[in-house]
Amino acid sequence: MVEKKSGMFVVPGERIGVIEEFIPDRGTYVENGVIYASNVGYLLIDQVSRKVSVHPVTREACVPRVGSIVVGHVVNVQSAMAFIRIIKVGKRFLSGFFTGVLHISDIEEKFTEDIFDAIKLGDLVRAKVISEANRTYHLTTRGERLGVIFALCSKCGGVLKLRGKSKKEGKNLYCEDCGNIESRKIASDYGLGNL
Ligand SMILES: [Zn+2]
Repeated sequence: MVEKKSGMFVVPGERIGVIEEFIPDRGTYVENGVIYASNVGYLLIDQVSRKVSVHPVTREACVPRVGSIVVGHVVNVQSAMAFIRIIKVGKRFLSGFFTGVLHISDIEEKFTEDIFDAIKLGDLVRAKVISEANRTYHLTTRGERLGVIFALCSKCGGVLKLRGKSKKEGKNLYCEDCGNIESRKIASDYGLGNL
């Protein structure tokens, strides 16, 4: 189980983890071996280097536009669409929240039979804005760089890791804690901690 995950909103003084586990970086401080946030912002955990940093939210107005690459959390999944709370537009983390809609037909190039095999509640997703009709941000995750970038096990909450060679039935993620196997429409840099 992880205490914190990439993309979480943190406030100064909030405990992120311990130095045995992570390397404190920008936007953090250490007291008695515990790493805390020194900024208001979004947590970034680099799963490879183990560096943790906090990216401050911007005070400037920043609104998603058609063509923007956004990052957000999946807050609701229905049979034909998923709703994504946008926390980052381009390089900027947002102080105000926007919600985007990802329709099942815009998830991947191929036909998505079951939306729950591609995206789940709580996933962190990178997507592109394809339209803003009726003040709704319509998103797509088609393309290699787009899709789920971080996900937790739907059974135990453990971190889902990429599976190795023997991917069958397109189930590409596994949980180290409970052995559960799940599938997602993942981005090519899944699990690397890039927001
Ligand atoms: Zn699990």
